Formats: sequence, structure tokens, C-alpha cells
Amino acid sequence: QSQDRVFNFAAGPATLPESVLKKAESELYNWRNAGMSVMEMSHRGKDFVSIIEKAESDLRSLLGISDDYAVLFLQGGATTQFAAIPLNLCSDSDEVDYIVSGSWGDKAVKEAQKYCKANVIWSGKSEKYTKIPSFDGLVQNPNAKYLHICANETIHGVEFKNYPTPENKDGILIADMSSNFCSKPVDVSKFGIIYAGAQKNVGPSGVTIVIIRKDLIGKAQGITPVMLDYQIHAENKSLYNTPPCYGIYMCGLVFEDLLNQGGLVVVEKKNVKKAKLLYNMIDGSGGFYKCPVEKSVRSLMNVPFTLEKSELEAEFIKEAAKEMMVQLKGHRSVGGMRASIYNAMPLAGVEKLVAFMKEFQAKHA
Ligand code: PLP
Repeated sequence: QSQDRVFNFAAGPATLPESVLKKAESELYNWRNAGMSVMEMSHRGKDFVSIIEKAESDLRSLLGISDDYAVLFLQGGATTQFAAIPLNLCSDSDEVDYIVSGSWGDKAVKEAQKYCKANVIWSGKSEKYTKIPSFDGLVQNPNAKYLHICANETIHGVEFKNYPTPENKDGILIADMSSNFCSKPVDVSKFGIIYAGAQKNVGPSGVTIVIIRKDLIGKAQGITPVMLDYQIHAENKSLYNTPPCYGIYMCGLVFEDLLNQGGLVVVEKKNVKKAKLLYNMIDGSGGFYKCPVEKSVRSLMNVPFTLEKSELEAEFIKEAAKEMMVQLKGHRSVGGMRASIYNAMPLAGVEKLVAFMKEFQAKHA
């Protein structure tokens, strides 16, 4: 990593691969002799169409997405999908199931409750969102239209390591993968919809990716705004209105980079190595640092931890920043610290953080 760049542990918008930023910089003024930047191109011209088509095809290769699924590049963040999903998949009298393993799942179900009968079938709230339920004892509603999970809770650092089998009549599982999208291989065929805001693992904010089984498209409630109707976006290949062109271009560069690294099997190995290093440091600190999350479901992407001496937190953050490690403060709703170590965080960044944490402990133990 270049000397002038910090190690950015932010949860999103988050660090991007340096090689991708440099490539974008080299193409900024004049994209491949088009005589203009990607920001200035018509979204219907052949150059931009080639960009979005390549981005889609590279994403399909990365995740092994079959032709049974549409890939949409939308706007409005994952938050907009919290409403779009029930609007597209149910009537207002339909029931749906939500597992709430953190704040994002909680927000998703509350939004869905405006458009259908959304039930929380399991919540980790009373245990401060440190767990994923056991699937054995989970009671699902057989009449539900879908089962929704948040695959990785960004604030609490809890991640599904495998997925519940939906027991609803249409067998539809839906996952918010905003914060672990493309961090490991996923069997897309298990899902009706996978959606993710780009700004953690695959690009800048402003792009939301929706991967949806084609047979679920075309059943939107009559009141669905045109911008939330999957059929409109699928029929128009994400070009119904002006898309977030530059963001889609950046996502395309990230997908290309992930493929060049060897694909998601390789990417996952790197992520496991980084996460192990950090969790082992925390667990081996004799209680100086603590991660509250149950070990088997700890996130590879977002590592929350607290200091036994919580009065040292501000100093920890200040001292880390002096050493070019930033954005380590936990989410305002939970406090403590959080290190987000997405795909683009180099191993060197985690190594530096671990060395800093050891030193900080030695100084204050
Ligand atoms: N879901 C998860 C898991 C998130 O981490 C976030 C944002 O951090 C959101 C949803 C909301 O995404 P957006 O801000 O793109 O609407």
C-alpha cells in the first residue's frame, strides 16, 4: 500500500483496492480513447453499454449466477430494497418471515411491515445480537411468501455460515448481503433474491445490486413506484432511467480485480486469514480486548471488540489514527470498536492493527 494512504477500517463506504483506484484514475479524463470520462457518457451509448454488460458478466462468473436469475444495478441503497422486496413479492395481506440477527434485519422487517404482514420468527435482540439461531428449532410459517435474513450484520459482526432451508410454500429465501457480498463463494441457486449495497466490498456508494430469480419478477403490487418495480428494471437491463454510471463502472473494475485474484475461493481464503489473525489476537489478550459474538458465527468482514478498560477507547482510536489506521470506532448504537476488514483491506493492514493492539495492551495492562 502507498505511503500516503491510510488503512481505512470503515464499515462503508469502505476501502477500495488501490489497483482499482489507480486504473480508474488512469482512465478518468479519457476512457479508452472515447474522448471523455465515463461520467460524461450517454448511458445508452455503446461504450457505457459495454461497461455495464461486462460488469454483469464478470459478476455472473464470480458468483456462478445462472440464466434463471436477473442481475440488476439499481439505486437507493439496500434500504430501498427493504421496501421493494415486499412490494414486488406479496400483496398487503400476505405473510412473510424475518430472522432478525442485528440492526439491519430489524430495519428490514420494520419497513416490510408497511407493505405486508411481516413476522419476526427469531430475534437476537435480547442477547444483544451476538448469535445466529439454530435452524433445527426454528419455527417457520408455512404460509409465508418468503424467509428473509441479513447474511452479515455489519454493526454487530454476526454472519450466517450456512443458510436455513425456507419452509414456506414457494421455498423462497432472501438475503441482504450488503456487507459480505463477493467475500466468499455463495450458492446463488438457494436464494430467491440476493441484494447488496456496493459500498462495502465491491464499489462506491450509489449502486445497489439485486440478483433475482426471474420467475419472481412481474408480480409487483399496483402501488409499487416504477423505480422499485423489478420488472421495469429487468426489461430495461437496468437502464430504465439514468443509472449510477460511474459507480457501475467502478464495480466492474472491482469484479475484474476479484476474477484476476483467482475468484471467490481465493478471496475467501484471504479473508479467513485476516479475520483469524484479528480474532486470535483478541481472544488471546487475556480479556484486555473482547469480542462479544459467539465464536462460530463471527463475521469475516466486521470485527467488533471492546476494551476491558473502556475509558481507554478514545485513546485507542486517537493513537491508531496517528499510525494511519482510521475509522475504528464502533457504530454509535453499540459503542466499543469495530474493524471492518472487507476484501480490499490488505493483510498488511490487519497485521499492522494487531501489532498496534499488542503494543497498546503492553502500555496499558
Ligand atoms: N444492510 C446492511 C447489512 C448494511 O450494512 C447496510 C448499510 O450499512 C444497509 C443494509 C443499508 O444500506 P444503504 O445505506 O446502502 O441503504
